[in-house]
Amino acid sequence: MALKTAQEYIESLRTLKTRVYMFGEKIENWVDHPMIRPSINCVAMTYALAQDPQYAGLMTVKSSLTGNTINRFTHLHQSTEDLINKVKMQRLLGQKTASCFQRCVGMDSFNAVFSTTFEIDEAHGTHYHENFKKFLTFVQDNDLTVDGAMTDPKGDRSKAPHDQADPDMFVHVVERREDGIVVCGAKCHQTGSINSHWHIFMPTISMGEADKDWAVSFACPTDAEGMYMIYGRQSCDTRKMEEGASIDVGNAKFGGQEALVVLDHVFIPNEYIFLNGEYEFAGMMVERFAGYHRQSYGGCKVGVGDVVIGATALAAEYNGVEKASAVKDKLIEMLHLNETLYCCGIACSSQGFQTKAGNYQIDLLLANVCKQNVTRFPYEIVRLAEDVAGGLMVTMPSQKDFTSDTVVGRNGETIGDICNKFFRAKDGVSTEDRQRVMRFLENMCLGAAAVGYRTESMHGAGSPQAQRIMIARQGDIQGKKQLAKDIAGIQ
Ligand code: SF4
Ligand code: FE
Repeated sequence: MALKTAQEYIESLRTLKTRVYMFGEKIENWVDHPMIRPSINCVAMTYALAQDPQYAGLMTVKSSLTGNTINRFTHLHQSTEDLINKVKMQRLLGQKTASCFQRCVGMDSFNAVFSTTFEIDEAHGTHYHENFKKFLTFVQDNDLTVDGAMTDPKGDRSKAPHDQADPDMFVHVVERREDGIVVCGAKCHQTGSINSHWHIFMPTISMGEADKDWAVSFACPTDAEGMYMIYGRQSCDTRKMEEGASIDVGNAKFGGQEALVVLDHVFIPNEYIFLNGEYEFAGMMVERFAGYHRQSYGGCKVGVGDVVIGATALAAEYNGVEKASAVKDKLIEMLHLNETLYCCGIACSSQGFQTKAGNYQIDLLLANVCKQNVTRFPYEIVRLAEDVAGGLMVTMPSQKDFTSDTVVGRNGETIGDICNKFFRAKDGVSTEDRQRVMRFLENMCLGAAAVGYRTESMHGAGSPQAQRIMIARQGDIQGKKQLAKDIAGIQ
């Protein structure tokens, strides 16, 4: 089947019976819901750019499974060049949406599950790799969006899955049948879950023998019986539901999306199971998925950063301070920080290697360094953006005030006249353009989009401490001690 167009993707979501809840109620037409639609538009961009001849070289690739042309978001990386192109594609999408475009979690799960299932089969004589290849061929042929679901609620963090008072704190098998398994549990803050056609579930931590029933990975359609989602709130999200407030929204076209995904006795047929009790492989799957997603942040967050820097430069221009040397220097600092993140994304890709299964994996140490930097630099970039833009980005009256006919002045001036008079800055710049850029920065720095740029930079793909554990493991302190001993003449 050919690549889907953006419109075909959106229409395909309507055919699903996905169960979505928000503000305590079931949302029937979630595809057109004003709070959800921007996140759908964002994923749709991954389809639209693949159709654009200008970007087709980056966005599409030849499938290693079928030889057909597929969207790179469904690809198994075949070289370090593929890994680098993945990061470049994510930067491009970040630039075009200024949001989290969500489809990467599926791509990262494909590559992690592909290589891990190969090694499980090698050790146990199971058939998970064949199951997975069949599933991925179906995904590629139909150009599907898949959510890679990892993060369990985790309950009491000091306890292993089998030790939790409530066994549902980690997704687990509650029944084993001839023809499949029945699973219960949930996954938290799932990026792009509602917009996905299918989900791939993976464990979230390394597991021991007692956690056998929790060591489970499988694919399942988003509208499977027993599965549903509760939509996650974002800062200032209800502005999207207001009439005449598109400027106040900041980024009215695109947005990210997170949800709580619940599995209430969902049946998974054997052919969609990729791990089922081989607990010693849970850690490998987690590490590989997390590694790929930490690489991803060296692309997506850089692309979003490009837009934040552009908006900051515009705000400076509209305020008439673009030539001030202090402003120029702050923009340089923002560029430096952003490009440093890109360097990390490219570096861990260029140092990638082939897995036993044949696809390519990133350098894990460098990918973790990449994500660790992402937990810091976007915060500094946002701090500088707020510094340069000025306080107006959070104190400006509403869009309705700027267009209001209500008379307030002694000479018949309206609220709109007053707002347009006092919020005018540089000659030749309309107050509306100034309004737009300020609200956009508000949205990026602390509104709905800050979920995807700021807090997600901290916790997405694992919180900072998770990267530090991996850096400690991969950093080879012993080898470095030996280097020092050799030169210092220590026996
Ligand atoms: Fe993709 Fe970035 Fe969103 Fe993760 S946070 S899904 S890498 S855009
Ligand atoms: Fe993310």
